Amino acid sequence: MGKVSGLVLETPTGEPAETLEVQGVFEFVGVHPNSDLVKGLADLAEGGWVMVDNSMGTSYTGLYAAGDVTNTPLKQVVTAAGQGATAAFEALRYLDSGVCPL
Ligand SMILES: Cc1cc2nc3c(=O)[nH]c(=O)nc-3n(C[C@H](O)[C@H](O)[C@H](O)COP(=O)(O)OP(=O)(O)OC[C@H]3O[C@@H](n4cnc5c(N)ncnc54)[C@H](O)[C@@H]3O)c2cc1C
Repeated sequence: MGKVSGLVLETPTGEPAETLEVQGVFEFVGVHPNSDLVKGLADLAEGGWVMVDNSMGTSYTGLYAAGDVTNTPLKQVVTAAGQGATAAFEALRYLDSGVCPL
């Protein structure tokens, strides 16, 4: 199997193509939050990010979200893990509070 040896960079403005020698490529194919599951249930920001407050709560009481799918600005493993911990903690507090109808 062949290996990447370079990239040809073309600009939309029509400047001459430039060749860049590289040994590997990480494709950035775009960012699209997979939030269909909660569409119509919780408020989504423009672009589809699930809107959360400081406790990772959504606009739907008792529903929490964390990580890349939320409208928080930093999309990193460490922030996703921290938000997940907060969301789990807050969900437990909600269940223990007695206001949950379930
Ligand atoms: C190319 C690349 C490089 C990166 N490099 C770094 C880095 O060096 N350091 C760093 O900190 N971060 C990096 N990140 C960002 C990091 O990967 C994310 O911030 C992190 O993985 C977010 O975690 P998450 O749990 O929110 O989402 P994800 O890791 O995307 O996990 C979401 C999971 O939910 C699943 N899922 C989606 N919809 C459904 C559904 N309806 N039902 C069931 N399951 C579902 C998905 O299949 C997936 O497994 C990088 C990201 C990319 C794309």
